[in-house]
Amino acid sequence: MKIRRAGLFILSIALSLGTYGFALNPATSAFNAVLNAVSQREGAAAQLSAERIAKHVQFLASDKLQGRRAGTPAADEAAAYIEKEFRSYGLKTASSAGFLQPFSFVSAVKLGEQNRFQVKTPKGIRSLKVGEDFMPLAFSAPDLAAGELLFAGYGISAPALQFDSYAGIDPRGKIVMILRGSPDGDNPHGRFAEFTQPGLEIQTKTLKAREKGARGVIFISGEKSFREDRLSRLRHDLNFLDSGIPTTVISVEAASEILASGGSLAGVEAKAKEPQPAFVVKDVTVEFKTDVVKVNGKSANVVGVLPGSDPQLASEYVIIGAHYDHLGFGGPESLAANPEGQIHHGADDNASGTSALIELARVFASERGKVKRSVMFIAFGGEELGLLGSGAYTKTPIIPLPSTVAMLNMDMIGRLRNGSLFIGGVGTSPVWKPLLEKLNGTTQATASAAGQGPRFQLGLGEDGFGPSDHQSFYVRDVPVLFFFTGTHDDYHKPSDTADKINADGLKQIAEFVSEIALSVANEPQRIAFTKVKAEQRPSGRGFRVYLGTVPNYSDQSDGMKLDGVRPGSPAEKAGLRAGDFIVRMGKMPIKNVYDYTYALGEMRGGEEVEVVIRREGKEMPLKITPEKRQ
Ligand SMILES: [Zn+2]
Repeated sequence: MKIRRAGLFILSIALSLGTYGFALNPATSAFNAVLNAVSQREGAAAQLSAERIAKHVQFLASDKLQGRRAGTPAADEAAAYIEKEFRSYGLKTASSAGFLQPFSFVSAVKLGEQNRFQVKTPKGIRSLKVGEDFMPLAFSAPDLAAGELLFAGYGISAPALQFDSYAGIDPRGKIVMILRGSPDGDNPHGRFAEFTQPGLEIQTKTLKAREKGARGVIFISGEKSFREDRLSRLRHDLNFLDSGIPTTVISVEAASEILASGGSLAGVEAKAKEPQPAFVVKDVTVEFKTDVVKVNGKSANVVGVLPGSDPQLASEYVIIGAHYDHLGFGGPESLAANPEGQIHHGADDNASGTSALIELARVFASERGKVKRSVMFIAFGGEELGLLGSGAYTKTPIIPLPSTVAMLNMDMIGRLRNGSLFIGGVGTSPVWKPLLEKLNGTTQATASAAGQGPRFQLGLGEDGFGPSDHQSFYVRDVPVLFFFTGTHDDYHKPSDTADKINADGLKQIAEFVSEIALSVANEPQRIAFTKVKAEQRPSGRGFRVYLGTVPNYSDQSDGMKLDGVRPGSPAEKAGLRAGDFIVRMGKMPIKNVYDYTYALGEMRGGEEVEVVIRREGKEMPLKITPEKRQ
């Protein structure tokens, strides 16, 4: 599952795992056929093997597969393993190209040869060494920045807190030097917490400086030893590949030397807390150029097809999916304290769903002839890096999306506890809720017929949006379900290992998914799609306003692409729609989701703002009035 950064991912799902009950729905005759179909294939369900599933988990989550980070040979090995299984069951390839659907993305960044940094003082010129005294940031624009040096404290403008690092000074055309943290340090509970959030602080401060007209940004390292600073390690974020302004971090020593004419570093740190901290550093000019080379990586989805047995219905497809990639040796998505060099095994996330997918493929393939619609099994790559695989699939679908009747996504289903299973996307088709309740034995008729209680304690979520691959299908009007056994302390840490997997629970969930898939595949009537009404969502920390947009995280070329807008939201009222690129909000140019998040932070509820979008290549201005968050 893709990590949801505090404040950034507005589309976070409400995880209402737990024990709430259901209203008992009387059985409708429309589903009798479903039940019959399911009981007819009890033999197939019985074939699902917890041992086989556990074996797949052990392999995929083994040290050998090194955490399956997209773009690495280890991820390709996982894909090859899945392909081999699909092939051995007699699944067909969906395209003439074979089982793999390749896609590319920026997998890494590295230093180019043009990085330099010069300081001119009356004493002469000093050149800093890249990697030792300074390091460009991965999102730095590849430009030269030259000019006067402005010290701008913590680089925070917070009118609501009556704190402005830029008070009384004009940064236009200057190079801005900024401290990490805030007057409260980086206290997550302090009043400046929203400005120092990990994964957002640097971006937000950079964009603030850019908005103020700065020519370049220099961060002073937050660590005494430069190499211990995460920023000195040149790591990229696919959502923020270009800040539009040259940006670098320099060592504490270099900063002290440069600031000597303005006092010691300790002196300026004290000054940074004052009401008017900013000053032009006397007799100093700075010139630096950053050169960061983006490295393209390749990954692939593994796609296998079981052709339907009914000549009429075989042209329609049910997709069962799970992402097979994970975090490799950590990276920015890791939640471990010291992730460097540690294999993030990703047994639950998502060797669990992948293993269930493989086993479902085997069992369905053995039942060929009994499945009327075609079933497509997709193991997605690059989910953790931004739903890359499902983004690639839905952008270039192998089977036209209108012929896809439903998508069932399994992501983190290996930790079944007390029978609690969360299923998202229930509002995306009117069929889902009665079907799930029936198959679960939640309804009176089925429960008493079976002579036992329900199979799972279901937690149902309406929303088709969520931090995993089903979202890519939902935004293209495909009914979806998302299966999830809940988060845990090992989430996105090296300790998400195979020994903690509940293999029997995995099998039970796979069984449940197989029955749902089979009913959707065999019902004469194709299931209907419904858009989910806006829910009261948990608010992203730090946002005071709500627009109701759904950003696309995989295609952010020159603007923030929307995957959708929430019904009844300010975005919908403003006329925004799926496929639009937001290129400007108010005065702020928008290149990506960070720019957007930043602009959102500057808005006020009830105050109309102009938003410029690009639609089919043409720019057009719209008016949007954000709602105030509760
Ligand atoms: Zn994940």
